[in-house]
Amino acid sequence: RVINANKNYFSSYSSFGIHREMISDKARTDAYRQAILDNPSLLKSAVVLDVGCGTGILSLFAAQAGASRVFAVEASDKMAAVATQIAKDNGVLWTGNQNKGDGRCSEVIEVVHAMVEELETSGHIQPHSVDVLVSEWMGYCLLYESMLSSVLFARDKWLKPGGAILPDTATMFVAGFGKGATSIPFWENVYGFSMSCVGNELVAEAAQVPIIDIVDDNNIVTNTAVLQTFDLVTMKPEEMDFTAMIELKPKLDCPSNEFSLESKTSCCYGVVLWFETCFTTRFGKEMPTVLSTSPYAPKTHWSQTILTFRDPIAIVSGQLFAEKSAAVGTESCPAVKVLSRISIARAPQHRSIDISVEMAAV
Ligand code: SAH
Repeated sequence: RVINANKNYFSSYSSFGIHREMISDKARTDAYRQAILDNPSLLKSAVVLDVGCGTGILSLFAAQAGASRVFAVEASDKMAAVATQIAKDNGVLWTGNQNKGDGRCSEVIEVVHAMVEELETSGHIQPHSVDVLVSEWMGYCLLYESMLSSVLFARDKWLKPGGAILPDTATMFVAGFGKGATSIPFWENVYGFSMSCVGNELVAEAAQVPIIDIVDDNNIVTNTAVLQTFDLVTMKPEEMDFTAMIELKPKLDCPSNEFSLESKTSCCYGVVLWFETCFTTRFGKEMPTVLSTSPYAPKTHWSQTILTFRDPIAIVSGQLFAEKSAAVGTESCPAVKVLSRISIARAPQHRSIDISVEMAAV
């Protein structure tokens, strides 16, 4: 089953469409480009390992930034061949010649067709010999696809002690969303007719599976809470499975028309998850960079991950709740101070993740 999951996974990366989508995602590709090209003291003369090179775009940036050697590892047969051709066409494919050292891109990229877990020690690559490990491993909701474990494996086997990882941190966030982010408003009034039954059915369906879509920041009705932060330098693979307790509070300046100023409650229809990866000053001293997939940032191909509740809840500010003030919801949407327990666990055979969200009124 593991083999099948991998086979399907790598063949999904054989279609050029997915690579075009990733490369065209400007927020994504520009962040990597900036982190690689604008930190010359990190990349100059470095030995680089690109885990999952795809077209080789990150390896090409590394060659451009003056790396002395770039090992571009790719498991998909087709993409390994394509990356080789691309490196060749751009005059940067490794030919065994010495780096020209004239500041221009030279023949430094060696494409290795292998799963990084099966990459063998050869004359060219030795354990603990890599200065900079770069990878674009993030999936939907950060951890979907579980490619992070491959990056950690590569770190432990090939990176020098004290070597750099790009990016070096990843943080997951959560916030509550309002009715505007659901299908309800559209179906409420269709040329003056109510088609709400459709909206309600769609919300019931959405409560079964997460939806990947863009959430407009105007529809965020709570604070943003950090769900988990990963330090790629030190983390262990088992930390990818975690449980976090967070408190969601109504966002007081929320433009959502469902926010009631008198009661300071927000009607929350579910939670939205997103992530940020950072190329911090730890390795990017000249130019730290953030790649954000937040609803508050320009959109990316990751969109956000939307988890809809079966029934909406009115979230009241904790302070008001403690004061037992007049904060009340409605019968269908009772007001509560909400603690949320969110667990994420890998389901490795399927390269997917299980997400559980429990909301507890306190
Ligand atoms: N670095 C490229 C592609 C990123 S997509 C870019 O930034 O555009 C991730 C790529 O990693 C895919 O091409 C996939 O086939 C490859 N990949 C995923 N897991 C891998 C592993 N364990 N070993 C080698 N390649 C892997």
